[in-house]
Amino acid sequence: MVMSNGFDADVILGGGGLVGQTLALALDQAGLSVAVIDASKPAETLAPAFDGRAFAIAFASYRMWRALGLGEALDAVAQPIRQILVTDGDLTRGGPSPLYLHFDGAEQEEPDEPLGLMLEARHVRQALDAAVKRRPSIRMIQPMSVSGFERDAAGVWVALADGSSLRAPLLIGADGRRSFVREAAGIRTIGWQYPVTAIAATIAHEKPHEGVAHEYFLPAGPFAILPLKGERANIVWAEPRAAAEALLAMSEEDFLAELRLRFGDFLGRLSLEGPRFGYPLSMQLAERMIDDRIALAGDSAHGIHPLAGQGLNLGLKDCAALAECIADGVAVGLDPGDVSILERYQRWRRFDNTTMALGMEAFDKLFSNSLPPLRTARRVGLAAVNAVGPARRFFMKYAGGAAGDLPKLLRGESLAA
Ligand SMILES: Cc1cc2nc3c(=O)[nH]c(=O)nc-3n(C[C@H](O)[C@H](O)[C@H](O)COP(=O)(O)OP(=O)(O)OC[C@H]3O[C@@H](n4cnc5c(N)ncnc54)[C@H](O)[C@@H]3O)c2cc1C
Repeated sequence: MVMSNGFDADVILGGGGLVGQTLALALDQAGLSVAVIDASKPAETLAPAFDGRAFAIAFASYRMWRALGLGEALDAVAQPIRQILVTDGDLTRGGPSPLYLHFDGAEQEEPDEPLGLMLEARHVRQALDAAVKRRPSIRMIQPMSVSGFERDAAGVWVALADGSSLRAPLLIGADGRRSFVREAAGIRTIGWQYPVTAIAATIAHEKPHEGVAHEYFLPAGPFAILPLKGERANIVWAEPRAAAEALLAMSEEDFLAELRLRFGDFLGRLSLEGPRFGYPLSMQLAERMIDDRIALAGDSAHGIHPLAGQGLNLGLKDCAALAECIADGVAVGLDPGDVSILERYQRWRRFDNTTMALGMEAFDKLFSNSLPPLRTARRVGLAAVNAVGPARRFFMKYAGGAAGDLPKLLRGESLAA
C-alpha cells in the first residue's frame, strides 16, 4: 500500500466489468489499494441470462485468472478447446470447402495444454465478483458512474454521479467501448461500424462435441460453434443487420430451422438453451492508451471484431502488463500514476493491440467477400497454412496468448512481493 497525501486509494478504476475486476485483483495482489466504480447493477449483470456470450479464453489469460485465485471457481465450468477447424464455405450451397485449417492442441510445444478454454460470461462474472468481495483492499462502488475528473500534478479528483468524489494518483478507464474516461481525457479513436450484427446463443445438441471448435466463413460473415461443458455449444453468428434482426425476432422453431442450414447435423438434434442476443459489430482503436495520470485498459482502448475471440484476451493482457508496470514502479519508489510507468505500459501493449485489431480487419475483409478470385485465394491460403506445420504452430501459439514478451501473470506467476 503506497497511499498517502489525502488519497482515498492508490488507484481508481472507472469501470468494473471483466477487465476492470481482473485488474483490481491484479493490483490488489501487488499490494495496492483500489476503488472500483462501476455503473452496472450486480442483480442484473450476475443474473444467469444477462448476456448470451461465452468467451474463448487463451491459455495464457486463463493462467492469469488462476494466479489471481479464480481457478477453484472456473476449473469446474471451463471447457477445454482441443481442436479448432476453420472452414471456408457456404453450407446452404453444398457444404463447407474441403480445404480447411486444422489446429490440434496435441501438436503444441506443451501438448497437454488445451488450445484455450470456453467460459460462459455468467460464470466469469460470478467468479470475479466473489473474488473481489473477498479482498478488503478493493472497494467496489456500484451501481455508480464516473461523471467527471480533474487532474493536478500529484493526482486525480474523480467525481461520482452521487456528487461525492475520490482522489488517487492514477485513474484507469476500464469502462468499455463508450468510455467516459477516454472521451473526457480527450483521447480520440479511429474506427467504423461493420454492417453486421453478431447473434450469440447457447445451443444444446445430441452428440458430444469432443472439445472441437468450428469457424465457418460464410458469405454473410463468420459463424462459430464453440464447445461448452456438457452437450452444449455457444454460437456466434454474424449476419447483415436486417437479417440478424429478423433472426432474433422469429420464433424459436424458425430460428432453429435457419440455424440447422449453417450448423449442419454432425452434432445431432439441436435446441435453444436460453435467449438469443444481438451485438452490432464495430471496430474502435484509441489513438493512445495513456494521458496525464490516466491509463486505458480493455475495450475502452480497443474494440475489435469478435471473429477470432480475442477482444477480452487483449484486455486481459492489458491488465497483466499494467499491473506489472505499476508494481515495478512502486517497488522503486514511484507513485502509481508516474509518467514513466504509463509510458512503459503503452510501449508494451500498443503494438499487440493494433496488430490484432488490424489483423481481424484484414481477415474479415478477405473472408466476407464472395468474389470468385478471393474465394479461391483464401481457400488456397487456408490449405497452405494447414500444410505447413511451423505456420500452424505459430498461429496456435499466437492465439493461445503465449507469443511475445509475456507479463508475469500471463506466465502464471504472482505479483505478490
Ligand atoms: C458476440 C461477442 C463475442 C465475443 N467473444 C469473445 C471471445 O470469445 N473471446 C474474447 O476474448 N473476447 C470476446 N468478445 C469481446 C469481449 O466481450 C470484450 O472484449 C470484453 O467484454 C470487454 O470487457 P471490458 O471490461 O473492457 O468492457 P465492458 O465489458 O464493456 O465493461 C465496461 C464496464 O464499465 C462500466 N461503465 C461504463 N461507463 C461507466 C462510467 N461512466 N462509470 C462507471 N462505470 C462505467 C460498465 O457498467 C461495464 O461494467 C466478444 C464480444 C462479442 C460482442
